[in-house]
Amino acid sequence: MTAPSIVWLRDDLRLADNPALHAAVDRGEPIVVLYLLDDESEGVRPLGGASRWWLHHSLRSLDESLREKGSRLTLRRGAAAAELPRLVDDVGAGAVYWNRRYGRAARDVDTDLKSTLRDRGLVADSFQANLLFEPWTVQTGQGQPFKVFTPFWRACLERPEPRQPLPEPESLDAPATAAPSDDLDDWGLLPTRPDWAAGLRDTWTPGEAAALDTLESFATGALADYGDRDFPAQEATSRLSPRLRFGEVSPFQVWHRMRGDLPAEARERAQGFLREVVWREFNHTILFSSPDLATVSYRPEFDRFPWADVPDREIDAWRHGRTGIPLVDAGMRQLWTTGWMHNRVRMVTASFLIKNMLVDWRVGEAWFWDTLVDADEANNPANWQWTAGSGADAAPYFRVFNPELQADKFDKHRDYIRQWVPEVDDDSYPEPLVDLKASRRAALDAYETMRRST
Ligand code: FAD
Repeated sequence: MTAPSIVWLRDDLRLADNPALHAAVDRGEPIVVLYLLDDESEGVRPLGGASRWWLHHSLRSLDESLREKGSRLTLRRGAAAAELPRLVDDVGAGAVYWNRRYGRAARDVDTDLKSTLRDRGLVADSFQANLLFEPWTVQTGQGQPFKVFTPFWRACLERPEPRQPLPEPESLDAPATAAPSDDLDDWGLLPTRPDWAAGLRDTWTPGEAAALDTLESFATGALADYGDRDFPAQEATSRLSPRLRFGEVSPFQVWHRMRGDLPAEARERAQGFLREVVWREFNHTILFSSPDLATVSYRPEFDRFPWADVPDREIDAWRHGRTGIPLVDAGMRQLWTTGWMHNRVRMVTASFLIKNMLVDWRVGEAWFWDTLVDADEANNPANWQWTAGSGADAAPYFRVFNPELQADKFDKHRDYIRQWVPEVDDDSYPEPLVDLKASRRAALDAYETMRRST
């Protein structure tokens, strides 16, 4: 009798550079590859709508790749603490392997499972796969987590070079009898009534193969233009964010591609690009030490900020790109249509909500969480808090983005604005929801009120 290994995939929907899968192959027994949709464990944040869409397609693609290797994906749904041991029993598993995640609730689930499984005599091992630098390995001289990015980045560069990516397994041996599995379509991850995903389908092809293509075409193409990354009409960024979020590509693959053979103009940009990739590492380090990042201000005085009581109708105008401020509306429509928004415009739209409308950053964070295909437990709240001024190494609160000046600077010919707001010059386009000057003044007054109450 063989005792199969279970590889429990989570934020690592790939076959290449997957240490958990690699360990299972090395063990030599048949392998059950599991994805468990856990919307029941306490504190695990349910996925937003756009992420559910992405997950569906990425799982479908993963299953196809597994079948080409002689295996298949096993799907289960429920609280991991109950469902994983159930699968262990179903298949008589002797080992369970997974790659680590860094949110508190997920870590608690994993830690408990590891001891439960080990107590039962199974092998239960976890691996570093989704971060280049695990949070507890990059610390200040005093052994504290970094609160400022630049010294964090420097400390990362002083660490040993991240390991080389692992190859994908050539074949995968599956148990003779397939493990009982749910049907992906029964999970209802795709929107039906209404089906709002047409723009997502037009924009993206989820899955590992497309992720590797994206990395390769960026390295040999747009990377050379990365100096223009602040201009939203240009395709100068990688669009790897949902790939990294779902682990269709690993940061190790990204890192070493940037260290590999690149066209001459791209070579100059590679380090600047990796610096941005390391912001993702920084934000995960912040999440690791401040697990309530999505709900609690990192700088606690901001939880006394006098937010305005803004009617839903106005917040909806922001959500759907009808504020009458062209760059804000363009960004919010790009987000709604494609599930992604250019970074510069994310900053502008977030700043507008927080500072010109005086809406609590958590309201905006929740909307992005639901609509972004790259919605990430660390990056989303950390960037919202960065924009709000309440986060780690945040923009100072009093630096209020002026969306008109931002448009003049970064979308001078209004190409981006016209793409998403074609009616911008027509009479039908709404008047501005707020007066930019007066609302800026009100924001600075509100900040002073908070400071005085501290
Ligand atoms: P590139 O410029 O090509 O960067 C490469 C990779 O580096 C990205 O894929 C991402 O993984 C990482 N990266 C780049 N910029 C940042 C950053 N500021 N913070 C953290 N990582 C970064 N990014 C997310 O991945 N998920 C989110 O939920 C998210 N929410 C955001 C919310 C707000 C309000 C703001 C201002 C930014 C947010 N970002 C988020 C960061 C950033 O906007 C996106 O990572 C970036 O736009 C993705 O496009 P790209 O892959 O083409 O970026």
